[in-house]
Amino acid sequence: MIKYKLICRDCNIKFDSWFASSSEYEKLKKRKFLNCHTCNSLNVEKTLMAPQLINSKTKYDTKLDTLKYSKIKKTIKNYQKFIKNNFQYVGDNFAYEARSIHYNNKKKSKGIYGSATKRDLKDLKDEGIEAQMIPWIEDKEN
Ligand SMILES: [Zn+2]
Repeated sequence: MIKYKLICRDCNIKFDSWFASSSEYEKLKKRKFLNCHTCNSLNVEKTLMAPQLINSKTKYDTKLDTLKYSKIKKTIKNYQKFIKNNFQYVGDNFAYEARSIHYNNKKKSKGIYGSATKRDLKDLKDEGIEAQMIPWIEDKEN
């Protein structure tokens, strides 16, 4: 059994709660079974064992940023999946391929994607070729 000091972010009340393990705490939190004993809010968090050493505000903000980042990352991943399924990968030849489609009216059933430098993108734009730059996360993180 582990005793955690929990804090309610809504009414700022701290209270103790017992859990079988730290993973049980995570499980309960995920399933929204953790609520404030006073106001029933689900905005309840585990406080650190030595709260006097930690600036709780900083910790909270970092957590939010991590959350925001993983949300953005998920969006990008979905976007990448869509692109991979619907576009043809041309690697570093992006600028070349984009031009050949534009100038030779080369028919391609799919759009293309690949890597290009900022300089390439600027040149393409000057030539009236539409290219969209998107953030890309390497697959190796999976
Ligand atoms: Zn509360």
